[in-house]
Amino acid sequence: MNAFEQAQTTYCEVCDSTPCNKQSEYFGVCPTCHKNDGCINIGQGHWMYCKAHKVMWYIGSNLFSAWREETLEYQKARWVRLGMTEFLTIEDALRGVQPCLDHDTE
Ligand SMILES: [Zn+2]
Ligand SMILES: [Zn+2]
Repeated sequence: MNAFEQAQTTYCEVCDSTPCNKQSEYFGVCPTCHKNDGCINIGQGHWMYCKAHKVMWYIGSNLFSAWREETLEYQKARWVRLGMTEFLTIEDALRGVQPCLDHDTE
C-alpha cells in the first residue's frame, strides 16, 4: 500500500478530513459532525461546543489561563450570545487518538 492509499484508508466522510478530526482534535469533536466551534470558559472550567448540533462537553478546568481575565458576567454574556443556554451537555464527545474505522469509506 502506498502512502496515498494509506491516507485514503483514514479518510472520514463525516468531517471530510484525512485523517478524521477526532484523531487530531485533542479536546474532542461533536459525535455528529466531527467538528467543534471552539471553547468557552465557565468559571475555571473549559467547555468545547458545536453550534450546529447544540452540544457541549467539558474538557477540564484551569488548563488555560484565559479565564482569569474574564469575569463571570462576561462569561455569562458570551454564553447567552452563543445561544448555549439551549445546548445539551454530552459525555461522549469523540476525543483522542482512535483510528477512524467506524465509517464506511466506500
Ligand atoms: Zn471524522
Ligand atoms: Zn456537530
